[in-house]
Amino acid sequence: MSAHMTPEEFRRHGREVIDWIADYYERLEQLPVLSPATPGSIRAQLPPEPPQQGEPFGAILRDLDGIVLEGMTHWQHPSFFAYFPANASGPSILGDLLASGLGAQGMLWSTSPAATELETHVLDWLAALLDIPARFRSDGAGGGVIQHSASDSALVALLAALHRASGGRTEHEGVGSGQYRVYASTQTHSSIEKACRIAGLGSNAVRAIDVDPQTLAARPAHLRELIAADVAAGLTPVLVVATVGTTSTTAIDPVRELAAIAREHGAWTHVDAAYAGVAAVAPELRFVNDGLELVDSYSTNPHKWLLTNFDCTAFWVADRGPLLGALSILPEYLRNPATDAGAVLDYRDWHVPLGRRFRALKLWSVLRWYGAEGLAEHIRGHVAMAQQLAQWIADDDRFELAAPHPLSLVCFRLRSGDAPTRALMDAINASGRAFLTHTVVNGRVTLRVAIGSPQTQVEHVSRLWSQIQSLATDPG
Ligand SMILES: *Cc1c(COP(=O)(O)O)cnc(C)c1O
Repeated sequence: MSAHMTPEEFRRHGREVIDWIADYYERLEQLPVLSPATPGSIRAQLPPEPPQQGEPFGAILRDLDGIVLEGMTHWQHPSFFAYFPANASGPSILGDLLASGLGAQGMLWSTSPAATELETHVLDWLAALLDIPARFRSDGAGGGVIQHSASDSALVALLAALHRASGGRTEHEGVGSGQYRVYASTQTHSSIEKACRIAGLGSNAVRAIDVDPQTLAARPAHLRELIAADVAAGLTPVLVVATVGTTSTTAIDPVRELAAIAREHGAWTHVDAAYAGVAAVAPELRFVNDGLELVDSYSTNPHKWLLTNFDCTAFWVADRGPLLGALSILPEYLRNPATDAGAVLDYRDWHVPLGRRFRALKLWSVLRWYGAEGLAEHIRGHVAMAQQLAQWIADDDRFELAAPHPLSLVCFRLRSGDAPTRALMDAINASGRAFLTHTVVNGRVTLRVAIGSPQTQVEHVSRLWSQIQSLATDPG
């Protein structure tokens, strides 16, 4: 007898799984947001040895409830305000399931033409929905691809930049020692430094651009100074990274000015808008797109704030030439007529791995289910809630806002100092009723409330504010 699950069994267990997920969303609000697990407590409940004989699928669902759930922090909980959101949604979960069901591997156009063509098309759609410049669409020299993460996108942008700056030498000769420089603000995500390490430039290749202490945005004048000094020393500026919506506070770098300086020196500009970029589905928030007509690559994460389950980072280049130059290697066993004729895009040349899942299906499901209006409403609702929260904070003398809050992240602290601010966060998180995280802004501990779960309603934000007020037992 075969151990494989028959289509009949799959149908039955599949329904149980879908029911489990639907029930989970119905009871989500009753669960403590933050997992109470202590280190090792989940593993201690798992059998030390793998099973010798197969088990019924029902046993897995039982252990999901009995063991796993207690070790979950509920990212889709309406009172999850930590980090940035990682939106899941019904259409996305189902689209992802369909991709799993097809089980296709879309490394080349020829290995599943629809996987490539749908991805190209959906990325063009998303570019249109965000109203980013037409040069990123696939009908010209540019185009989009779904990357695993914003971090991968930064690495790939760096490799394309190195290709362009070296005239194609780095692929063969490597990066040498210490020739190339990368510029990013002190608030830039750690993935940029990581990309430099992976690419062999090392952390020392990164030059930190100072930020304005009020806006926390990169200072173009300082970029200009850093580049001038490096050029005078005979070094090559290869990449300038601008962030739209920093991880700490959603600060927005002046992309237009930074990109103009990069251009003067032939350096590549990559814009990391991991969290904030998708806000542009709402026309009134398209200030996040300012300056994109000057940059070489752009990325934003539908897997953060646009309802598409991890992983789904949209990455666009204005010119795919340097990207393909950096990453394309065609071994004999992958050769095929469509590739040889140059008639198709082969996405294996656009990212680090060879293989790729059919991730476009879940993004396609989301864009079609919600439509432009539904997506804009999703973003708008969170921005409105954040602005309301910021107003409540501004109106309470015990608190101060720590940074501008143009989108749906609000950063604030108790005026009485770091220790009470941290104690407030710990008390909220220990209650299980909400989860928020902290950062440090201008040397001071600051709490972050990131509003972005599709489940979050105004009442969840007002309940959080009541809890903050009552726990802020601050003498003044
Ligand atoms: C979250 C974030 C990242 C990292 O995102 P991944 O997709 O998990 O790699 C990078 N940059 C910024 C600005 C972010 O907020």
